[in-house]
Amino acid sequence: MTAENERFKSYNVVPGPKMGVVTPEFLETIAAVARKHGIPMLKITEAQRLAMLGHDPEQVAQIWQELGQEGGPRKPVGIHYIKACPGERWCKYGRRDSLGLGEKMGPALLSLPLPAKTKVGISGCPMNCCESFVRDLGVFGKKNGWTLVFGGNGGGLPRIGNIIAENLNDEEVISLAERCLRYYGANARKLERTARFMERTDLEKFKAAVLVG
Ligand code: SF4
Repeated sequence: MTAENERFKSYNVVPGPKMGVVTPEFLETIAAVARKHGIPMLKITEAQRLAMLGHDPEQVAQIWQELGQEGGPRKPVGIHYIKACPGERWCKYGRRDSLGLGEKMGPALLSLPLPAKTKVGISGCPMNCCESFVRDLGVFGKKNGWTLVFGGNGGGLPRIGNIIAENLNDEEVISLAERCLRYYGANARKLERTARFMERTDLEKFKAAVLVG
């Protein structure tokens, strides 16, 4: 591999956006900074974010400053982002406000200490465009409320998550998500994803621990 190719593989800045929602101003800023620094690749990621790829490590601090964001190393594990579909605000099939729930969930979940990478997907209806059944924590909307799914994975060893509860309102689904994650955090092995954890966990015992009332 050439030194040039190594450079392209080694450094990136991922300035957002949250849940894939952008404004013209955000895109204009990205374009201006990318042009100025000769960034060779802008990539929309699976996580609904936009990655600036292929710049030199010495450029990182300046790029973050010009983007008006704080950079710094990413936390190695836990929840890095919440993925959400357009939901009832923007999609004719939407039954629930997935973007609104994502905004509300962020403060409760993003800082939780967790043993492994944890992906979250929120879909506004049972068509599940955010693949809620194959996310560590999945949520999807139906007419009577949110359904919460836990322990899914879409990677090399896929797993369909378990439905933990249905017909939840916003506050109930956020609270239950936090209890599921805290139970997982307290009982999983280091770097054990939720899918593998749920495979060796008794589902009824898990539900008894996280469902209240
Ligand atoms: S999951 Fe439903 S609401 Fe969300 S984008 Fe897909 S069809 Fe629309």
